[in-house]
Amino acid sequence: MDCIFCKITNKEMNSDVVYKDEKFIGFKDINPRAPIHILIVPKKHIDSINHLKEDDKELIGGLILTARKIAEQVGIKEKGYKLAFNVGKGGGQVIDHLHLHLMGGWKVEQEMHNKKTP
Ligand code: AMP
Ligand code: ZN
Repeated sequence: MDCIFCKITNKEMNSDVVYKDEKFIGFKDINPRAPIHILIVPKKHIDSINHLKEDDKELIGGLILTARKIAEQVGIKEKGYKLAFNVGKGGGQVIDHLHLHLMGGWKVEQEMHNKKTP
């Protein structure tokens, strides 16, 4: 399958990896829309939230807990951060491999509200 995030998880393509374990990988967004903008991606290819099956409940829970772990690792857990899923073209999803945007690191809270998020 010609999927850019599968290529990244398979190491066929380079990315700026900040986290990995047996199920997930976290890497810096190539076009960051926040001082810290990381994508958390399951190694298993699922197109989007719309394509989750009942059996994926553990995976999706794990994805969110992994985002929290990475937020702690990069030092934004206590201050706060934004998590976002884009779902389908109408939701702004461009890459059809499920991913969670982790964004934060704004200096002033107001700055975040002035920024467009993915
Ligand atoms: P979405 O709009 O939710 O599908 O988000 C896809 C995100 O992937 C965008 O924020 C892109 O900037 C980002 N992106 C695309 N290609 C790469 C890449 N090779 N490495 C890192 N991030 C990427
Ligand atoms: Zn994929």
